[in-house]
Amino acid sequence: MSNSRAQNPFTEITCREHAITQADIKSHGWKPALAASQQRQDAIAKLIVSSVSGGIACQAGCWYCCYFKVDVHAEEVFRIVDYVRAKFSPARVARLQEELAANTTTLQALSTQGQLTANLKCAFLDNGQCSIYEVRPARCKTFHAKDVEGCKKSYEDPNDLSIPSSFIPELSHAGEAHLKGFRQALADAGYDTNAYELNAAMALALADSTPKRRFEKHKKAFVGLTSNK
Ligand code: SF4
Repeated sequence: MSNSRAQNPFTEITCREHAITQADIKSHGWKPALAASQQRQDAIAKLIVSSVSGGIACQAGCWYCCYFKVDVHAEEVFRIVDYVRAKFSPARVARLQEELAANTTTLQALSTQGQLTANLKCAFLDNGQCSIYEVRPARCKTFHAKDVEGCKKSYEDPNDLSIPSSFIPELSHAGEAHLKGFRQALADAGYDTNAYELNAAMALALADSTPKRRFEKHKKAFVGLTSNK
């Protein structure tokens, strides 16, 4: 990726992340590269949040945005699986698997539009808190709002798509730019960069190691799941 001409800040984020991740994958493999990339994404988000006048409305215990459909990528799913296996009791894993299966069944019965307005509780939302916060999907990290009212209204009336988003655009754009760079490097190394629905992908990855083995062999990780780039 050329750095030769003047670039907007988001393009610069993409280019920098692409170069760093390319080198990281080459030297250390995809897993450490992912962990390091997520730390950089957090650092960028922290910097942007600190510059938002009046601060942000997000705080622990606020969960309105945890009723959206979430897209994830294979490498994130495997990191979450490792976390769940390390931190959750077997009984909690079993409960999680039940909720993932139920959410998957519900979502797969809906149209694309229906999935966007389903208001389905995320399987990882536990007592109003994200139970995998440290390794939550990158998509979730781009959701930060200045005003809780917009999130609340969208939650209460999910079919009203005219409610303006209260998410902070700079944070979303910077997050997306960062992820674009990371995934370009992952694609360069031959890995699956499709996006999958969180519940369905997690259910398969928790059930057995086939998706991870396929990913490591540079194949599409989740066979049978619809995906998009
Ligand atoms: S993974 Fe965590 S942050 Fe993301 S929607 Fe689920 S509970 Fe919310």
